[in-house]
Amino acid sequence: MPPNVIIVDHPLVQHKLSIMRDRDTSTSKFRILMREISLLLAYEATRELILEEVEVETPLERTTAPKLAGKKLCLVSILRAGNGFLDGMLDLVPSARVGHIGIYREPRTLQAIEYYLKLPEDLPERDVILVDPMLATGNSAVAAISRLVELRARSIKFVCLVAAPEGVAQVHRVFPAVPILVAAVDRCLDSHGYILPGLGDAGDRLFGTK
Ligand code: URA
Repeated sequence: MPPNVIIVDHPLVQHKLSIMRDRDTSTSKFRILMREISLLLAYEATRELILEEVEVETPLERTTAPKLAGKKLCLVSILRAGNGFLDGMLDLVPSARVGHIGIYREPRTLQAIEYYLKLPEDLPERDVILVDPMLATGNSAVAAISRLVELRARSIKFVCLVAAPEGVAQVHRVFPAVPILVAAVDRCLDSHGYILPGLGDAGDRLFGTK
């Protein structure tokens, strides 16, 4: 794996992911697991947030204690499966701002087409965690990161659940400085751009649309 690719091998993450892979896992269970795993991934993704010492009055005395410094995070979801990550991450960082990028894969060419964009205006003052559970060809991730770079996000991390080696290589080739946090890098893509063994279509499994 390239440097900058962090595999989150925590046993709870791995256990929950294995249940999500199972085709017999129901939509409601899948959704709950996605929320739980995204909280654990957010914990890893926020490790390097900057702290500052502030004054606190405990019931016993005045002291200083560390708190997060500066403007809060911005979570950016690649629609629609990225939305499955938002609730769990917001459980952990409730004051984060949330942006959305709508991107679909043109089924024939698998190229990424942006159809929706809504982001906070103060992106240059915010660290962005870009989320999409599946990093397949890497085309959507590259399109989304390009947009965030163009809008001068202060920093960008990409967090996903399952990646194909092809997708990791593509994102790393175009944006080598963007860290990728992922629970598992699977074997390969199939001819339709699905990850093998993967977990199927994350959006369909999350929203019960198939
Ligand atoms: N998107 C998905 O939801 N699943 C895949 O396997 C690939 C892309």
